[in-house]
Amino acid sequence: MVVDLAPEPAVADLAERTARFVRDVVLPVEERHRDPVPSEAVRRELQDAARKAGVFAPHVSTGYGGHGLDMRGRAAVFEEAGYALLGPLALNIAAPDEGNMHLLEAVASGPQKERYLRPLAAGEIRSCFAMTEPAPGAGSDPSALATRAERVDGGWRINGRKWFITGGDGAAVTICMARTSGSPGDAGGATMFLVDADNPGMKTVRHIETLDQSLFGGHVELLFEDCEVPDDAVLGQVDAGFRNAQVRLGPARMTHCMRWLGIARHANDIAIRRANERELFGSRLGELGMVQQMIADNEIDIAASRGLILRACWELDQGRSAAQATSIGKTFCAEAVWRVVDRSLQICGALGVSGDVPLSRFLREVRPFRIYDGPSETHRWAIARRAIRQHAAAAR
Ligand SMILES: Cc1cc2nc3c(=O)[nH]c(=O)nc-3n(C[C@H](O)[C@H](O)[C@H](O)COP(=O)(O)OP(=O)(O)OC[C@H]3O[C@@H](n4cnc5c(N)ncnc54)[C@H](O)[C@@H]3O)c2cc1C
Repeated sequence: MVVDLAPEPAVADLAERTARFVRDVVLPVEERHRDPVPSEAVRRELQDAARKAGVFAPHVSTGYGGHGLDMRGRAAVFEEAGYALLGPLALNIAAPDEGNMHLLEAVASGPQKERYLRPLAAGEIRSCFAMTEPAPGAGSDPSALATRAERVDGGWRINGRKWFITGGDGAAVTICMARTSGSPGDAGGATMFLVDADNPGMKTVRHIETLDQSLFGGHVELLFEDCEVPDDAVLGQVDAGFRNAQVRLGPARMTHCMRWLGIARHANDIAIRRANERELFGSRLGELGMVQQMIADNEIDIAASRGLILRACWELDQGRSAAQATSIGKTFCAEAVWRVVDRSLQICGALGVSGDVPLSRFLREVRPFRIYDGPSETHRWAIARRAIRQHAAAAR
């Protein structure tokens, strides 16, 4: 199998311009606004600047005002955007909007694309994706889906509760996964619905306080109580929700890895700078073997994550499901990013936990990635089952 890892010249150019934009425009804004959650005005200011710099919406097709990058192209550009916490928001490639745009481009009807994808791609509105439920509902095991949608005249009535819905505060549209057939535990029977924010049947119950704070619109709990939507609110086909969710989940896993890899690189740069400057025990920190080992391990984790992301992206670009490659990439990358940020903080000593460098903030922001988009344990379980099945099939 021959895999060409080099980005095409146009992609390399966009990645370089993104890196410059993040360094010159986004990082100064991020340093000025120490508030973990930026305001709507800051979001607009950054997105206007990204438009002017010609780096806005790199993932969306050109028909919707984007650059139409494939997954490998996204890997190069998203990593550069991810170097700052606010970089993805500036380029309009932050979660969950980026994954939702990908899903809408692939699955939505023409009128749904005009109504939701076009304003999302332009940064005029935001969205969220509501799958997870409090126990005993859907979490690591999506088949536990308990939210129900029943047929009513001309549409559907949704009842259920969702939580940890990122971006829920201020989202103009919620993509809600509900069961339209079968019972909790069944592998099929889910449908996606597009629910507008002004639907009186959908209420925000609360903002959930979490370790991470930088994702725009927070993480909310939503209650669907006799929430009626018309037939044309069905996204994709009835009962095809789990299958269509895969269109979003595989690529979204990888784009999360790309963005957090940017933060890992940023953390490693801070640590290397410190290792070059700080003197102790008669030498520079970077001349001490145990610090060199931590820097080497950071470099290895970053390079390996990038390689696994690219391999999975290459498979996705070939139109394959890439289930095994995205599980392996996601598990490794989520853990590697944590290790890199943690080691970088250690190299900086007390400075690392202070507010003078952003490392403690990075640590808080990356930790939940080992849980969302599938916890490491769920992925390891799936990776092993696929491997065992493959061996059994080969032995027959
Ligand atoms: C910051 C954040 C943002 C999120 N954003 C969204 C969002 O926008 N939309 C949305 O729908 N959801 C979102 N989620 C929810 C996320 O997808 C779920 O938390 C995740 O799927 C795990 O489900 P759970 O929390 O119910 O954990 P559970 O399903 O209760 O799992 C608990 C633990 O069990 C272990 N486990 C799981 N599977 C196995 C296995 N096979 N073998 C052994 N152990 C296992 C793991 O350690 C896991 O952490 C978000 C979560 C977080 C933390």
